[in-house]
Amino acid sequence: MNNENKNTGALAIALVLCLIVLVILVICVYEKFTSSTPTVTPDDPDDKQYVTISNLTGMNLADAKAMLDDAEIIYEVVHTDSELYNKVLNVEYTGKTEAENLLIELGTTVKLHANEIDPSKIIYLTFDDGPTAGNTFEILDTLDQYGAKASFFVLGNRVIQYADRIEATIERGHIVACHSYSHDLDRDSDGFIYTSTDAFLHELEMYENALRGAGITVSNKILRFPGGTCTNGYLSKEDSLEYVTAARNAGYKVYDWTALTNDADNSYRLDGESDKDYFLRSLKESLTASSEKGLPLIVLMHDKLTTNECLADILEYLVSEGYVFDTIDHCPEYTFAEN
Ligand SMILES: [Zn+2]
Repeated sequence: MNNENKNTGALAIALVLCLIVLVILVICVYEKFTSSTPTVTPDDPDDKQYVTISNLTGMNLADAKAMLDDAEIIYEVVHTDSELYNKVLNVEYTGKTEAENLLIELGTTVKLHANEIDPSKIIYLTFDDGPTAGNTFEILDTLDQYGAKASFFVLGNRVIQYADRIEATIERGHIVACHSYSHDLDRDSDGFIYTSTDAFLHELEMYENALRGAGITVSNKILRFPGGTCTNGYLSKEDSLEYVTAARNAGYKVYDWTALTNDADNSYRLDGESDKDYFLRSLKESLTASSEKGLPLIVLMHDKLTTNECLADILEYLVSEGYVFDTIDHCPEYTFAEN
C-alpha cells in the first residue's frame, strides 16, 4: 500500500514536471511567433546574418531608435533639412528590403536621416479669428523675419473679403485651418454655432464652401472650436465630446491650446501692465505649466492689433529660449474635452 502510494506520488510529480516543461515550451514557441521584430535571419542566401526590422521610413525618430536598440544595431542620426521634426525621412543601411521590412546586415551602422529636435522645444503658434485687414500681412512679415511657421484658424465668413491674405498665408508656408464660418456665440441668435451638432457641422461645411468659392485649396481638415471645446461657456464636457466626435466623423482633427498670451482676456492683467509685459508673462507662465505636464506646446493668440504689435518681442523671447516653430498639422490632437 505504502509503495503504491509512493509510486503514485512520484508519477504525479513527474506528470506535473512534464506539464510545466510543456507550458514553458508553448510560451517559448508562442513568443517566437508573436514577436515580429527584430529577428535574426541566419539562412540568408548570401550566408550573411541579417536583422529583420520594420521599415523605419516615416516613423517617429524615438520609435525607430528604440527598434534599432532592441535589435542591437548601431545607428547615427544624419541631420536633414526638413520641416518635419523627429520623423525618419530616409534610412541608409547595408542590406535589402523584403516586403514591409528591412533586412539590415549585422555589424553595419544604420543612418537615420531626420530633422532631430528636442521635442520639448517644439512650439505651435496659432492665430485665431482672422484674416484681418490691418494685421494679417504684418503678422506674416514678422513671422518671416524669425523664420517661424504658424497656424491660422480663420473664419469662413472672412474668406471672400480677405482671400489674398489666406493665399499669402498658405504660400508662405503656414497652415490655414477652420475656426467655424461665423464664430456666432450669441445664444439668442439663430446662427448660434452650438445650437446642435448639425448646426455646428453646417458651419464647417460653409467654411469649406467659402474656401472653394474663393478658389483656395486647403489640404487639411483641422479645426479649433470658437471658445475652445469646453471652455466656451456653452457646452458641457459631455456635450463637447459629442461635438468633437461629430467633427471627427466629418474628417476633422480638433485642437484646443495649452499656452496663451491672454491677448483676448484682460482679467489677469496686473495694474499698469503693458500689452507686451502682460502677453509675455502669460505666455511664460502657461508654457512652464504645460511643459511640466508634458503637453504639446500650442500657443493661442489672435489675429489682432495688440498681438501684431507685440509679436516681434514674443518671437524674440521664444527664439532666445531655444524654441523651434512648427505647424499644427504635425502636432498630436489636443482637446480640453478629452483632458
Ligand atoms: Zn475665436
